[in-house]
Amino acid sequence: MRANPCLACGACCAHFRASFYWAETDDATPGGVPAAMTEKLNDFFLIMRGTRGPEPRCEALLGDIGAGVRCSIYERRASICREFPPSWEDGVQNPRCDQARAAWGLTPLAPEINPEPSPLPRAA
Ligand code: SF4
Ligand code: SF4
Repeated sequence: MRANPCLACGACCAHFRASFYWAETDDATPGGVPAAMTEKLNDFFLIMRGTRGPEPRCEALLGDIGAGVRCSIYERRASICREFPPSWEDGVQNPRCDQARAAWGLTPLAPEINPEPSPLPRAA
């Protein structure tokens, strides 16, 4: 079994704004995204704290980008995080994964990597 590349990356959690519908939080959904870790984007959408601005980094991300990371709210992360696959998961390239890694000086994942399902981000 190959190691999950996201555990040595985290770039997308520190590159994109992670926005999602407000009702995904525990204000409306038991066990949902901790509302205390979000902020308002508009009347319908929230973002993960830390992902706004020119140097985003989600407050839920622990560790060092490109070395070792984990999502502190993995089981409660938003749909946008769950639906962001690393490149070549199930044989499909994700250009946004490649883009985030490039922004952090990391090479794109190779097609051969065939990773396990990601424990990490999924940012918008
Ligand atoms: S999805 Fe891509 S950019 Fe995000 S942590 Fe995984 S390998 Fe890194
Ligand atoms: S996967 Fe976790 S650390 Fe990454 S953006 Fe989503 S909540 Fe933040």
